[in-house]
Amino acid sequence: MRIRDSIHTDQFPPSYYTATCNDLTPFRRLEGNMHVNVCVVGGGFTGVAAALHLAEKGYDVALVEQNRIGWGASGRNGGQVIGGYGPELSNMSKIQKVFGRDNARAAWEMGVECVDIIDEWISKYDIDCDMKWGYFDAAMKQREMDELAESMETLKSFGYKPEQRMVGADEVKNYVGSDRYIGGLTNMGWGHCHVLNLVRGEARAAEKLGAKIFEDARVSKIEYGDKVTIDMDTCRITADILVLGGNAYLGKLVPKLASRILPTGSYIVTTEPLEESVAKEILPANFAVCDQRWALDYFRLTADNRLLFGGLATYSGRHPRDIIGAIMPNVLKVFPQLKGVKIDHAWGGYMGIGLNRIPQLGRLAPNVYFAQAYSGHGVAPTHMSARLIAEAISGQMERFDVMAKIKHPPFPGGQMFKAPIQAVGMAYYRLKDALG
Ligand SMILES: Cc1cc2nc3c(=O)[nH]c(=O)nc-3n(C[C@H](O)[C@H](O)[C@H](O)COP(=O)(O)OP(=O)(O)OC[C@H]3O[C@@H](n4cnc5c(N)ncnc54)[C@H](O)[C@@H]3O)c2cc1C
Repeated sequence: MRIRDSIHTDQFPPSYYTATCNDLTPFRRLEGNMHVNVCVVGGGFTGVAAALHLAEKGYDVALVEQNRIGWGASGRNGGQVIGGYGPELSNMSKIQKVFGRDNARAAWEMGVECVDIIDEWISKYDIDCDMKWGYFDAAMKQREMDELAESMETLKSFGYKPEQRMVGADEVKNYVGSDRYIGGLTNMGWGHCHVLNLVRGEARAAEKLGAKIFEDARVSKIEYGDKVTIDMDTCRITADILVLGGNAYLGKLVPKLASRILPTGSYIVTTEPLEESVAKEILPANFAVCDQRWALDYFRLTADNRLLFGGLATYSGRHPRDIIGAIMPNVLKVFPQLKGVKIDHAWGGYMGIGLNRIPQLGRLAPNVYFAQAYSGHGVAPTHMSARLIAEAISGQMERFDVMAKIKHPPFPGGQMFKAPIQAVGMAYYRLKDALG
């Protein structure tokens, strides 16, 4: 069965999320011109969370999204809600190396707080998004077990409260019904959810607080200055402050940001709803699961008992013509018992990867903020970047500066060489995974 990938269209991809979304009623379209205090570009978690944080603080804010709220990576990802502010920052020695001893603690705390924001907003705004707590970091090698044990100890030594537990070979099947793993680490502070419902729920919450949320509003030109002018095809916003949250989909609109990000595809399939007994056999605890490789498999059950399974399907940087054909061998390596299962949805999306794989946050001018490049680990960290931007706009620069002072080198050679670099990079990481 071939399902068309709609990565390049302005419609939602044909995903599990779109098929089961609570509310796809369009947000408003912008007619004419307007002036606002803060204009946010991008209707993913970065932009929507920035709008919500700012609306909570009483700012006059407008958000413009070129397609639909949640159309980008935020509404089509693996749904894994993972703490830590960036995939490269899994233990304290790495965090200290990046932030220095003085700021390490603050950076570590942000990696916990980013998940708390989601938890708080789900309750505060009554967002129905199938949030399920429980996460399993699966290991295939002893070295991975050792690293997981170290990261658990680091978290504990800093007073991390949610329950974590190392699980050995004797118990691993209580979490994943597969012979592929030798053990892993559980974490009750992380989990999984229906991300399209989450991002659209957050956008509705922002709207209720007075934020103006516009769909079908593609920014084609920005003029910087004391007032920023944001031009769309038939309308214009002038703003005192601009927040850029377009991430991997921003294209070349802001060359300085484009040069620091590599849009990289990741692909997902979901099965038909599984018999309760099969769902219980493959993921008995209903935790989200990730393995430890760079080109990792990530999977979980949906609320209606489908297996949602994702990964990096190609190393060439090109999209697979047949997503199911590319992903199914990975699914069957983990769960051979699913041979013959029907696949209902298959789709892909772009994530923004930076050279050092640390989220990028900063200012292009005193009144122009940006956040991007979460490197495949953005559902929770986007919420933190958005909070830091809202803090900075309201004059609290301290925590924003901790992140903003990290240097993010551009990709060598700029746009022209990105695709070959990506191909070489993917081959390197494939080799690294293979050699362990
Ligand atoms: C397939 C896949 C699986 C993933 N799985 C996970 C996971 O399980 N857990 C996890 O933590 N992370 C995951 N990620 C990463 C995570 O989804 C992203 O890091 C996060 O969603 C980024 O959010 P964002 O708001 O910065 O970008 P996006 O969600 O991509 O939003 C950017 C928005 O900006 C809009 N935009 C761009 N340019 C313009 C313009 N000119 N005018 C107006 N609007 C514009 C776009 O249309 C888009 O909607 C995954 C990513 C992908 C692609």
